[in-house]
Amino acid sequence: MSDINRQFMLARIPSGPLTQDCFRLERGAIPMPGDGEVLVKARYVSLDAANRAWMQGATYRDAIEAGTVMAGGVLGEVVQSRHGDFAPGDLVSGDCGWQDYAARPGKVLRKVTPTDPLSHLLSIYGITGLTAYFGLIEVGRPKAGETVVVSAAAGAVGNVVGQIAKVLGCRVVGIAGSDDKCRWLTDELGFDEAVNYKSGPLYKTLKAACPGGIDVYFDNVGGDVFETVLFQMNLLGRIACCGAVSAYDGTPPAHGPRGVPGLFVVKRLTVRGFIVSDFFEQRDEALEQLRAWVADGRLKVIEDVISGFEALPEALIGLLNGENRGKRMVKIC
Ligand code: NDP
Repeated sequence: MSDINRQFMLARIPSGPLTQDCFRLERGAIPMPGDGEVLVKARYVSLDAANRAWMQGATYRDAIEAGTVMAGGVLGEVVQSRHGDFAPGDLVSGDCGWQDYAARPGKVLRKVTPTDPLSHLLSIYGITGLTAYFGLIEVGRPKAGETVVVSAAAGAVGNVVGQIAKVLGCRVVGIAGSDDKCRWLTDELGFDEAVNYKSGPLYKTLKAACPGGIDVYFDNVGGDVFETVLFQMNLLGRIACCGAVSAYDGTPPAHGPRGVPGLFVVKRLTVRGFIVSDFFEQRDEALEQLRAWVADGRLKVIEDVISGFEALPEALIGLLNGENRGKRMVKIC
């Protein structure tokens, strides 16, 4: 065990797009776990669009403060334990932050069963897969034959949403930020159509891709894309509000959804926000179903694994700029 703990501190809260100088690398001593705590050595750090939202203020969790270790989900190994439920060698997940070693209370960690490859515990069998599963099935409630649209479709949550919707017999249209991503969604992941929100008027391309309107919209991005989709929703449509990545990295968009309340009433829309943890009681059934779909080849697991602790800041900045396909994470060791 090395005796150095590398940590990325959030040096300052960005006022515009996230940049490398918002982070500071420090090297310190490995912490000692206190009573009820566990010392965790990071194996993989999860990169999530929400990491940037946490810098904006309190959400479903406290805001990240400048001068503290950058927060983030970690898959790690217990190296010392002063908590009865954990022993050295256990694999755990939890918010241990961007550091090699973290001493965390046992109650905020979750023991996980090793899977080959381990990275699947952060992608399809982690928050990403569960968010897609619960958001689509429990909130979007798609029926076979309906049209499902998902934004940030080539990203971690989005690609799984589209693939599950296909398994359920829906017509699936993805919205993504490049022609390459769109081609990949249709050619490799079996989406029926994909449209690039950065090229041409989205209203027109989406209309052409969804001639029968949209029954379920899984919204990962908010802002202008949300507004465009809204006006193409069918009667009794459902919108699963998962996140609003367009508003995370910089100043909020000048435009937002207009005419919303009236449309919601006239079209009897159900628009429901959710946090994946709302459904954690059903986690075991969801994981069983996801494992079955992966095993029979109906779900492809798309991961974007970057190596090396020092890559963390650039990896998050790149994710916010749309570099990733599928679940981005950094392999630490
Ligand atoms: P992704 O892997 O989807 O990465 C983010 C993607 O967003 C980028 O690849 C980029 O792709 C796209 N993007 C960036 N800026 C914009 C923009 N201005 N407009 C439209 N698209 C943009 O990230 P995650 O899977 O981590 O997160 C996806 C969403 O899911 C986020 O909103 C996140 O907050 C939410 N989430 C919610 C949870 C919940 O419990 N409610 C749990 C987990 C995630 P492109 O090239 O297409 O622009």
